[in-house]
Amino acid sequence: MTVPFLDLKAANESVRSEINAAIGRVLDSGWLIGGPEVERFEQMFAAYCEAGHCIGVGNGLDALHLLLRAAGIGPGDEVIVASNTFIATWLAVDMVGATPVPVEPDPATHNLDPNLVEQAITLRTRAVLVTHLYGQPADLDPLLDLCQRHGLKLFEDAAQAHGARYKGRVIGGHGDGVAWSFYPSKNLGALGDGGAVTCNDAQLASRIRALGNYGSERRYVNIERGVNSRLDPIHAAAIAVKLPLLDAWNDHRRSIAALYMGGLSDAAVILPHVPDWADPVWHLFVIRTKDRENLQAYLTSRGVQTLIHYPIPPHRQQAYTDNPAADSGLPIAEQLASEVLSLPIGPQMPLDHAQEVIAAIRDWCRI
Ligand SMILES: *Cc1c(COP(=O)(O)O)cnc(C)c1O
Repeated sequence: MTVPFLDLKAANESVRSEINAAIGRVLDSGWLIGGPEVERFEQMFAAYCEAGHCIGVGNGLDALHLLLRAAGIGPGDEVIVASNTFIATWLAVDMVGATPVPVEPDPATHNLDPNLVEQAITLRTRAVLVTHLYGQPADLDPLLDLCQRHGLKLFEDAAQAHGARYKGRVIGGHGDGVAWSFYPSKNLGALGDGGAVTCNDAQLASRIRALGNYGSERRYVNIERGVNSRLDPIHAAAIAVKLPLLDAWNDHRRSIAALYMGGLSDAAVILPHVPDWADPVWHLFVIRTKDRENLQAYLTSRGVQTLIHYPIPPHRQQAYTDNPAADSGLPIAEQLASEVLSLPIGPQMPLDHAQEVIAAIRDWCRI
């Protein structure tokens, strides 16, 4: 491949000596679970997200599920989710015994359509769990308003949106709780699995922290039946090195996205639509075409690696054959799944790689 989809090694290489030093500090400190590196990162990330609290957890799925559980969502409850999100959003709802109720996205933004949410609310609905898909913030104000009117919680899956802004304010403290993943390929990626929740409610934060630590706030005193899900110091120290660079890395992604937008504006593919209130961080740059398999094969032949996020929507997975949507279908999610194609993008991607991608797509379009 001449243009890889994402060069993770390059991103880590650029901070290798700082990360090595941070790992050395962790080893020297003797704190291999919890301790000062984790606390320091949690404070840094809460400040970055303009949120009152940050709780490090083991991964993004746990961030979602511990947030839902700590907020009291459980069996018999319904949680509204996007029909085209990564399956983890749905799985977290199942993990607390509740039911994910899918609502279709606005195909222009790929994010939950607030106008469709209201009609999905039933007597059992307890929350909306909105995903900021591909790093583009969802339209939060109408959702916040709707949740307030119906007495629902608004939770956010921000696993792809580190640093994204909604109407000028960074994602992380708008709703009742925000779940993050530090999976290595995310915009802020650890050296393995990691995650966090940010929120402004001290009680919710304490409960999430206890639930992720065997349901214990004090050692060997268990107030409820929790799990083991913690952000390891080695990961906390590594992402603390990267956090000060996140905005610059996101700016680089914005430069790549701007090249694609300009270079493909007259191409016969559908480009992402960015509402004027959205400042996305381009975790993924996703275009659409009815001829997706053909374009992907052509780009492969030109040495351009692309991926599909996501080829099968959750309700079409074998895991969800018992969800009512498996029978009724979700036409927008299904259409998007058959048309989306993610182009290479990343914090270290050379700009001339983007030009190669553009040239290849233009050739495919015969322009
Ligand atoms: C990556 C991701 C998750 C899950 O994060 P993990 O750390 O892999 O568990 C959840 N939701 C979305 C939208 C994601 O992209």
